[in-house]
Amino acid sequence: MQLAERTQKIAPSLTLSVDSKAKYLKSEGVDVIGFGAGEPDFDTPDHIKLAAAQALAEGFTKYTPAAGMPELRQAIAEKLKNDNHIDYKPSQVVVTCGAKHACYNAIMAVCDPGDEVVIPAPYWTSYPEMARLAGAEPYIVETTEENGWKMTAAEFQNAISPRTRMVILNTPSNPTGAVYSEQELAELVEVALEDDIYILSDEIYEKTIYDGEKHISVASFSKKAYDLTLTVNGFSKSYAMTGWRLGYVAAAEPIAKVIDTIQGHTTSNPTSFAQKGALAALKEPSTCVEDMVKEFDARRKLIMKKLSEIPGISCVEPKGAFYVFPNISSFGLSSTDFCTKLLDEKQVAAVPGIAFGDDRCIRLSYACSQETIENGLQRISAFCAKLKS
Ligand code: PMP
Ligand code: GLU
Repeated sequence: MQLAERTQKIAPSLTLSVDSKAKYLKSEGVDVIGFGAGEPDFDTPDHIKLAAAQALAEGFTKYTPAAGMPELRQAIAEKLKNDNHIDYKPSQVVVTCGAKHACYNAIMAVCDPGDEVVIPAPYWTSYPEMARLAGAEPYIVETTEENGWKMTAAEFQNAISPRTRMVILNTPSNPTGAVYSEQELAELVEVALEDDIYILSDEIYEKTIYDGEKHISVASFSKKAYDLTLTVNGFSKSYAMTGWRLGYVAAAEPIAKVIDTIQGHTTSNPTSFAQKGALAALKEPSTCVEDMVKEFDARRKLIMKKLSEIPGISCVEPKGAFYVFPNISSFGLSSTDFCTKLLDEKQVAAVPGIAFGDDRCIRLSYACSQETIENGLQRISAFCAKLKS
């Protein structure tokens, strides 16, 4: 059967397939511990659910403009101004079907076949595949644990060719939890601006940040940084709204317009009544985000403590998001073999680091209860002890 050439270049999402496998095993009654999904275990806060339910009850069930409801675009523009110090007009904001869709639309809007997209590894699994879907080539820059898994300006500079069109920055990072400082970002931005390289700034974990670290938005640096940056964010992680499929991208007017057009011919608007929920998330006062982050922080400390007690494992302390990315290379297994055996022998689901461009590591999502972390890490500890024996 002949399929489109572009489909031959892309691999399925391992983050999603590990999650479905764990959920399937659970439904079969297997006692699986799931560290796979990058999905908060909390329920969406009630005031958000109520706003959407009320919208449904009132018959808010029709198309909205493709780029989203005007009130929501306005609220997002206000949020970007207040939290991120970026001045976007509502017309520069496009509401998308999840931040994943926002990233994809952003890449489709500015990348041509043959262009290169610089992606620091470890990277979120979908970036290279999105670049390939646009006909562009991912150019992967390896980073090191010694440098906290962050790309330096020199490493970025070395990666640039005449074909470089975009760089993808994701801070706080999935899968490493790395958070770039203002200085580190400023240096990277300077390199990008010299060659008019677009910056896709994926800020979906903006709020999930610890130890007093500060999230900085690269579009806030200068007028030129603003013009070349496509700022992506969404509701999935901060507000525990993964299933709602709501994200957004904000960019210079011509880019936002093109994204609006792309969306107009592909998905049209994100679900109307879900947008009303997102509006409540931004507008109604609540401590829900802070409450969730506090609990994530306690889990982060617990999982780091438990990992540090396992001989053969090393792990850079994450400063944001809800993942740890431990190095398991001392066990002599590929990340895929390690995770397959771990699931088969101990019923613990983790994502092989190879999905994020590093085969020496695995990713554990600690978006689960402290009890689950205790149990899961006990199993991993026993598994590792057996591998060493
Ligand atoms: N960016 C990163 C870095 C992610 O980890 C994810 C996965 N949740 C997304 C974007 C997409 O999020 P959403 O569920 O809003 O599509
Ligand atoms: N982004 C989350 C993760 O990395 C959810 C799965 C996905 O969208 O890839 O696990």
